[in-house]
Formats: sequence, C-alpha cells, structure tokens
Amino acid sequence: MLVLDLSTELIGAAVPADRLRARAAGAYLGLAVGDALGATVEFLIPREILEQYGVHRELLGGGWLKLRKGQVTDDTEMSLALGQAILSAGTVAAGPIATAFSDWMRRKPVDIGNTVRRGIAHYRQTGETQVPESDYDAGNGACMRALPIALVTLGADLEQVAAANRIQSHTTHHNALGDAGTLTVLRMVQAALQGGRRDHLKDLADALVAQAPAYRYDRRRMENPGGFLVETLRAVFQSLFATDCFEGALIDVVNRGGDADTTGAILGMIAGALYGVEQIPRRWLAALDPKVAAACRSQAGALLAMSPQCRG
Ligand SMILES: [Mg+2]
Repeated sequence: MLVLDLSTELIGAAVPADRLRARAAGAYLGLAVGDALGATVEFLIPREILEQYGVHRELLGGGWLKLRKGQVTDDTEMSLALGQAILSAGTVAAGPIATAFSDWMRRKPVDIGNTVRRGIAHYRQTGETQVPESDYDAGNGACMRALPIALVTLGADLEQVAAANRIQSHTTHHNALGDAGTLTVLRMVQAALQGGRRDHLKDLADALVAQAPAYRYDRRRMENPGGFLVETLRAVFQSLFATDCFEGALIDVVNRGGDADTTGAILGMIAGALYGVEQIPRRWLAALDPKVAAACRSQAGALLAMSPQCRG
C-alpha cells in the first residue's frame, strides 16, 4: 500500500487563518456549485444551450442525468469520498482511497466515468491500488476529484504534492500527461489559497504549457470540451483568464457545453480558492444540496487543519 508521509517543514507565506479557511471553503463549495451548474448542460453544444436556456446561469437540475435542482454528480461525490478516506486514515494512503472509491461505486452513483469504473474493477479483482500506465488514461476523472489533495498538502513541498496526487490519481488514471495537468490544477488552488492572484495562476498554467505543449490554450476558443484533460483544461484556463469574478468565470465555462459539469467543477475549485466563498453567488449556495454543502464545508476545514501549513 502506498502511503504518503505528510510531515514536512512549513513553507509558504503567513495568510490569516480565517482568510485561509474562507478560501478553502470557497474552493470546495466552488467545486460543488460548478458541478451542479454544468451538469444541466453536459453534452450539449453551445448552440443548443443558447436555444434551450439562453445563457445558462442557474442551478436548475435536469440535464441528461435528470438531476434534482442543486444535485451534484461524480465530480463532487468522488472528491468527498477521497477527502473522507484521507481524514479517516489520517494520511494520503492508496488502500483507504481505493476502498472509498469502490464503496462509492457500490452506492450506485448517478454518473461514473468509464476509466473510473475500470480502475475500481481492477482494484476489486486484483487488490492493486494502482492501474497500469496507459496512454488512454488522460481523462479528466482524476483531476475533477483532486481538491482534497490540494488542501491536505498545503505548505508541503512540490514533490510531496505530486506524490500525493499520484497516489489518488493512479487508483484509476495512470498517465503522465494527466498527472502534469492535475498537479498544475493543485498548484493553482494552493497558490490561490496562499493569496496568489490571477497572474500567478497564469504563470503556473504557462509553466504547464512549456512542459507539455498539448495544453496550449491561447489558440482557438475551446468549445464542447470532451473528457480528455487537455480539452478540459484549455476551456478552464481560457475562462479563468478571460474573466475577473467567480460567477463570470463559471458561466463562461459551462456555456461552452461538452463535459460541462467537470469544467465547472475544476474551474469552480480554482476560482473558489481565488475569489473566496463570499464571491460565490448566494443563489447558487442556497440551491446547492444542503447535505453536500455541509460536507464540503466540514471537509475543507478538517483537511486544511491536517496540512503542514496549519500544523506548522
Ligand atoms: Mg460528473
């Protein structure tokens, strides 16, 4: 079983504790509202969204999954399963994480990606907590659920963040391009939690592009992003850097259609950390499933409290 030792020296600037907690709550609630907002228009193309909703900007439910208003999907549910596994184990360990994902699948989730299903089946059949490396595993399913890693490793050095991310990602997705994209999202969330501004986040996105040019996001507008993480992050980066508030960023990304619940979830965690919970529209927070909202708030605080940054 892979286990990560989180004991490390404190790095990172001193951000007031209440400010840090508000940003962490913003990241987790941002993930959930982005998921719920985007799910309504998942698999639609922008023209269909325009015809059916005008500009889609409310948590309505519906969509191809026939969701209740304010209901979230696998993006948020798997994040909460991962977060709970880390909190229960007291560390980032592959065994408890794989078990948590397997238990989640047994509860018959409203949606589940093919790569995730295959990875969990592999764990059940073999007991192995890592799938073999595969060119086909650069889907966005490991990135969409990665937020608990950003919170629990805040203040750790980069290689420890990367190691923790590999532990959770490789339970279902084992691909270097995917790992690089997901690690960048985690770094962006952590930079925002520590007070980094949008320009700092852009530097991180640009460093990813320098390392893995597939992620270039400065060319044509990414519409109908699919499940490939490269497409997902192109849309996320374009929306994040073209807007200057949480609501504007989220509306911009979900109206691109495609895998809109996951672009919404990933942009929601970054923008929530950047702008803070107070910038998430109250009408979205009010519509969000209350049990999910409570779990997001509770895990955000508990994971942050476990982090090297907060334990000092
Ligand atoms: Mg989903």
